[in-house]
Amino acid sequence: MTIEQFIQTLPKVELHVHLEGAIRPETLLKLARRHHVALPADSLEGLKQWYVFRDFPHFAEVYQTLSKCLRTVDDIELITRDFLRGQAEQNIRHTEATFTALTHYRNYGLPFDQQLAAINRAREWGERELNTSLLVILDIPREYAAPEEALQLVQWLAAEQPAGVAALGLGGYEVGFPVEKYQAAFELAYQTGLPAILHAGETAGPASIWSALQVGRSVRIGHGVRCLEDAALVQYLRDQQIPLEVCPSSNVCLRVVKDLASHPLPQLLAEGLYVTINTDDPPMFNTTLNEEFAKIVRQFGLTRDDLQQFVLNALCAARLPNERKLKLEKELIENFAQRA
Ligand SMILES: [Zn+2]
Repeated sequence: MTIEQFIQTLPKVELHVHLEGAIRPETLLKLARRHHVALPADSLEGLKQWYVFRDFPHFAEVYQTLSKCLRTVDDIELITRDFLRGQAEQNIRHTEATFTALTHYRNYGLPFDQQLAAINRAREWGERELNTSLLVILDIPREYAAPEEALQLVQWLAAEQPAGVAALGLGGYEVGFPVEKYQAAFELAYQTGLPAILHAGETAGPASIWSALQVGRSVRIGHGVRCLEDAALVQYLRDQQIPLEVCPSSNVCLRVVKDLASHPLPQLLAEGLYVTINTDDPPMFNTTLNEEFAKIVRQFGLTRDDLQQFVLNALCAARLPNERKLKLEKELIENFAQRA
């Protein structure tokens, strides 16, 4: 079995991917035509080229255009189904995807409960028809959400305790937008028993990770790769075995690192940190989870056992109910044993 075949058939778990950022050009074209939105390109081929990552402003433009095409709850159901189809095709058995409900509430007034109901319809379909499960992390977009808007989202979560939600998130550009701004929202989430999973240590350094842990009480860290700049933080993350959601291609595209060869993945592993491998916004970074696995094998000479360990790490760090987690763990271990 080639390494590509091994990766394709390996049952996997993904913890850091954005539902909006995973919209494929085909789906965007469908949405734009549905709502008569003019896109920079009108053909699939042209749109695929426009998708290719150039720089941060272009990336932000693509993201905004995507969000503007999400106008109805049916659109949300459509992208979630399309996403789950893509995950199932890669043999991903469970995903925890970030979704920015606040953006769609703000853009088109879509109520939180209707957005989540649309996701839950797709989620149940995915579990039933595709044997792939999903939980969402509803995040606060830190560049533009006011503290009151963030609090409103958490108040709704606290009151409704809706199914399908794994955690409260904090996404976006860290520099200038610290977690402290949303302290009240994270405090309420904590009191409600809702876990928090924050992006930190990507565009900003160790101080942002410390804040995510201390102020946000983050149970995992989205990215976290810049922890290596602070020895005390590395020790803390190792002692507590706080899972890091590492997204190699995203880090290269967004210039967190110069290229894949300079990615700190080997150092993170050498430090004994808890590492999972993820895609972030796969079509924009021209990747998939399978390709991320293949790239790190080629670049760093990782073994098939290492890849299986990443999958188990992701599963153990998932926010699934214990019963489902143990069942999936058993399936994975049996599957790994058959391949040995
Ligand atoms: Zn992200």
